[in-house]
Amino acid sequence: MTTTTTTAGTPTGTSAGRTAGTPTAEARLAALQEAGLVAHGRGSAEYDALVSGFNLDLSVSPVAVVEAADAADVVALVRLAGEQGFGVGVRLTGHGLSPDLDDQVMVHTRGLSELHVDAEGRWARVGAGVLWQQVLDVAAPHGLGAVAGSAPAVGVVGYLTGGGISPVGRTFGLGIDHVRSFDVVTGDGELRTASAAENPDLFWALKGGRGTAGVVTAVEIDLVPVAELYAGALFFDGADADTVLRTWASWSATLPAEATTSIAFVRLPPLPQLPPPLAGRFTMSVRFAWTGSLEQGPEVLAPMRACATPVLDGVGPLPFAALGAIHMDPVDPMPSLEAHTLLAELTDEALGALVDLAGPAAECPQVVVEVRQLGGAMSDGAEAAFAQRDAAYSVFAVGLAVPPLREAVTAHGRALVDALEPCSTYGLLPNFATGTDAAWWTAAYGEQGVARLREVVQAHDPRRVLAGSRALLAATDPRPTTR
Ligand SMILES: Cc1cc2nc3c(=O)[nH]c(=O)nc-3n(C[C@H](O)[C@H](O)[C@H](O)COP(=O)(O)OP(=O)(O)OC[C@H]3O[C@@H](n4cnc5c(N)ncnc54)[C@H](O)[C@@H]3O)c2cc1C
Repeated sequence: MTTTTTTAGTPTGTSAGRTAGTPTAEARLAALQEAGLVAHGRGSAEYDALVSGFNLDLSVSPVAVVEAADAADVVALVRLAGEQGFGVGVRLTGHGLSPDLDDQVMVHTRGLSELHVDAEGRWARVGAGVLWQQVLDVAAPHGLGAVAGSAPAVGVVGYLTGGGISPVGRTFGLGIDHVRSFDVVTGDGELRTASAAENPDLFWALKGGRGTAGVVTAVEIDLVPVAELYAGALFFDGADADTVLRTWASWSATLPAEATTSIAFVRLPPLPQLPPPLAGRFTMSVRFAWTGSLEQGPEVLAPMRACATPVLDGVGPLPFAALGAIHMDPVDPMPSLEAHTLLAELTDEALGALVDLAGPAAECPQVVVEVRQLGGAMSDGAEAAFAQRDAAYSVFAVGLAVPPLREAVTAHGRALVDALEPCSTYGLLPNFATGTDAAWWTAAYGEQGVARLREVVQAHDPRRVLAGSRALLAATDPRPTTR
């Protein structure tokens, strides 16, 4: 455990929602520091830096932030929280939604930075503060890759606790299918190992159940023996959207599991750092990752290359560690709004709706509207809280949460989800949809999944310390409300 002195935050007086008997923010901060934790209060530069994450629209305002240096710090914090009755949330990059952390303490995991690759055994031990790009970089010299997501600047643990949809997912499955074990501090303040053999209920809950079941401090994952892919993105003029989308839909339906693909309607701003064929233009991007032989890749992609004239052809041999080049997700923080739905199929009507709402004639305020083909190895895997293996496609839209666009982006996202409803599975990917109400939990995990998550959480967090378990239990309490 690390002991240090930190600057107390600006006095905040009685914070919103504080009831009589609740300690002030200063008293809470002092208690954390007395316990030997590195804690920052509101008003300090460290606090501001740690609460500010990738999505500037998802702001959190915890009463204090604790920087964990090791698992013992997390244990000490959770035990103190249990004794003193405050909640604990967890965060790394701020790419995802955190539960409401007002009047709770946030543990920031960037100090949990261990990273070890066992090249012979093809596995890695990864601290909760590690990003996917770091894992890809240390695995690459051994000819190994990892089932990371499209944005390698995302945290390994945050991605895995949401299931993990990868640009190579149809070949290798979900991120969670490669987890050997989690080290996790549960709400009762115990550091446990969760694996198929040890604490299998916790293991089940952590594989997709977000931060409900505990604060993960490290994870052990299997690596995949792939050094190079045939991968990247083809960009077409937006005017060809209808042809490109319809060709993609019929072509992708015939692909073997060595191919993972998605298509996106892309409207990038006219920024000087972007390639000229994309900057300030509406384009269609076909993302493609082929894990079979490099010679076969071009043959498989040929029907897409031939369907219209690409304005940019960025598909070719790609080192596995450059996986992020397939989607080219943004890396700089920005305020964004998201809309998401899962589809059982892509009918002619659904394709028409996509073109109507995001094609060349549409007033589409989104930066990206993407359709990812799921299936392949993602359809199978060991039991997990993640409950969406049957979905065939994921639709995801992202737009800027800035005035005057904000309302238009929100309304367009709703219209998109409504228009695709006839094909919807009514499910949601926990990593792609942000929500906090009962409907969100049921859509993400199903009724049985919610009930099982509740059981795990109630068994391991008797004092309701963790923000994730508080959020789940409050939103999904099956008992009727009494007045
Ligand atoms: C541009 C972009 C691209 C993305 N691409 C993909 C993709 O291809 N595939 C995919 O599956 N997802 C994708 N995501 C979603 C991303 O994986 C999730 O938002 C993920 O939760 C981010 O984890 P984080 O730790 O970086 O973020 P944070 O915002 O810091 O954490 C988000 C949540 O993760 C959980 N969490 C984080 N750390 C811990 C911990 N130590 N213990 C327990 N729970 C924890 C908590 O519930 C927390 O609220 C993308 C997101 C963005 C913004």
